[in-house]
Amino acid sequence: MIVVDCAGDVEFASKLVNYVKVQGINAKHEDSIVTINEGNVEEVLKLFLKDSNLSEYSVLKVDSENFVLAKEVPIEDFGFVRCELCGYVLSSEEELTTHRRAHGIQML
Ligand SMILES: [Zn+2]
Repeated sequence: MIVVDCAGDVEFASKLVNYVKVQGINAKHEDSIVTINEGNVEEVLKLFLKDSNLSEYSVLKVDSENFVLAKEVPIEDFGFVRCELCGYVLSSEEELTTHRRAHGIQML
């Protein structure tokens, strides 16, 4: 039994269930949580996104039985900042300034 979390999107979950059923795989959803009986779910999810033109969504594998399907949101939308030198993510500008100093950059 594979559980796919559609990140609160019930309509999306119902679309996914229909798609999976057409592939001959048993599936159902409760709110935005889809449970799929069997099969290569990761492959099916990727095909679903491709066939439905949902390229802004991505398949996130949590573990062998749990997946999340969600829109990729730029981290900046959550108030995070990213170090442009190493890609490290920090939660505030202050932390970023401190972090940048670790690269030997002097803030004048
Ligand atoms: Zn850095």
